[in-house]
Amino acid sequence: RRPLIAVVGRPNVGKSTLFNRLVRKRRAITDPTPGVTRDSIEHEWILDPYALTIVDTGGFKVEGDSLDEQVKEKSVSYLKRADLILLLMDVTDVTGEDETFIEYLRPYSDKLLLVVNKVDNRERENGVWNYLSYGLGEPIAISAAHGLGIDLLEEAVLRFL
Ligand code: GDP
Ligand code: MG
Repeated sequence: RRPLIAVVGRPNVGKSTLFNRLVRKRRAITDPTPGVTRDSIEHEWILDPYALTIVDTGGFKVEGDSLDEQVKEKSVSYLKRADLILLLMDVTDVTGEDETFIEYLRPYSDKLLLVVNKVDNRERENGVWNYLSYGLGEPIAISAAHGLGIDLLEEAVLRFL
């Protein structure tokens, strides 16, 4: 089967924005409200020479209430099946929810890349080194909205496969 890449992280870090940029299509279902994706969306991601499957695990909440239980179950199955997990964080805002995600995903650390999003300019680059302290390897700095660092992310994914 095709290698499966799962994009995870708390709401609003830019998962759908990255997903759309990588597959170069407006496919992720986003609400008019930023930060909202209703369900996990799978799409083909052509990363030469690979044809991958990438999933935006939109509804995944680590501390989900019972309404989110079904969505959560589906997302957990993605984590298990994924060949590579992209854990997305926001360089402008780290919350308790991010840290819960980090601890939750630590068992998967050997197939996880930490991706720091919203690194829109030089000034924000300085913040990226703080993320080394999570012990999840070197963070990859990107700006999904502005298309910065996407080539480095793609290289890191290719090195992993
Ligand atoms: P999701 O909830 O993780 O899927 O996040 P979204 O992709 O819906 O993005 C949440 C908000 O962050 C939206 O307003 C996006 O436009 C914004 N956003 C996403 N990527 C970037 C980025 O690289 N830089 C900045 N400044 N904003 C971004
Ligand atoms: Mg989303």
